[in-house]
Amino acid sequence: MMRTRFAPSPNGPLHLGHAYAALVAHDTARARGGSFALRIEDIDGERSRAELVEEFLLDLQWLGLEWDGAPIFQSHRLPGYAAAGERLKAMDVLYPCNCTRAEIAAAATKFGPDGPVYPGTCRNRHVDPTGAAWRLDTGRAMALTGPLEWVDEIAGRRDATPMIFGDVVLLRKDLPASYHLAATLDDAADGVTLVTRGMDLFPASHIHRLLQALLDLPVPTWLHHPLLVEPDGRKLAKRRGSPSLGDCRRAGEDGRAIATALREGRFPAGISLSQGIHQTP
Ligand code: GLU
Repeated sequence: MMRTRFAPSPNGPLHLGHAYAALVAHDTARARGGSFALRIEDIDGERSRAELVEEFLLDLQWLGLEWDGAPIFQSHRLPGYAAAGERLKAMDVLYPCNCTRAEIAAAATKFGPDGPVYPGTCRNRHVDPTGAAWRLDTGRAMALTGPLEWVDEIAGRRDATPMIFGDVVLLRKDLPASYHLAATLDDAADGVTLVTRGMDLFPASHIHRLLQALLDLPVPTWLHHPLLVEPDGRKLAKRRGSPSLGDCRRAGEDGRAIATALREGRFPAGISLSQGIHQTP
């Protein structure tokens, strides 16, 4: 069955940009007779705040969005992520790394979608894995899988170029997972056939496609949608003063009317949808 998901991280309140992402996922599923899952990406213990989860559920209900089944919590799935990590280690495509952020910033010569590209310092040296992070040897992994493609419903077919990220961390120092590993495993476990999310995560799909190939996971289609942006072109963010959905809800605003306005492309003053989104790699 066709299935989408909305996968917010409870590290800050939802705002209008999240509402738009949730609507895209929900409405696409409903229009195609599919189902819509809600997944809480709460593995980041330092940044996740449990009290926000209840707010998220109220916000989505207020917008008139119903998800199918119980909400899924990544924090309940750590053993599964760790097991996939062991499998990748056995395939010899992960290596331990104990570089600090500052060391990486000082040694990096390239910039990728997430900032400085890891220069591969630990790839060929002996590192005590105790307390280390584990990175994907992206070049070695691509050599194992061979060329890969993926399809975005808007951007079309793409060759997978995960090398733009360099060797990403798949198992963090503090956690047997990372966003890339957890999201990829979950989309497979949750039967997601169409991954809808904002275009800011478009490049991440290169990595996810590679992980699917390494771990024999089903390959979904993607739909990276434009983002709601401010007049300077930057995406909405609470820290720059966009009101949270919770604030609007508590102020007695009509969530369903807000959802209708977003569906019809009517945005608050100064806010618009980003353009030219698929020029990104
Ligand atoms: N949890 C991510 C976020 O809040 C979304 C991840 C995804 O959709 O793959 O930005």
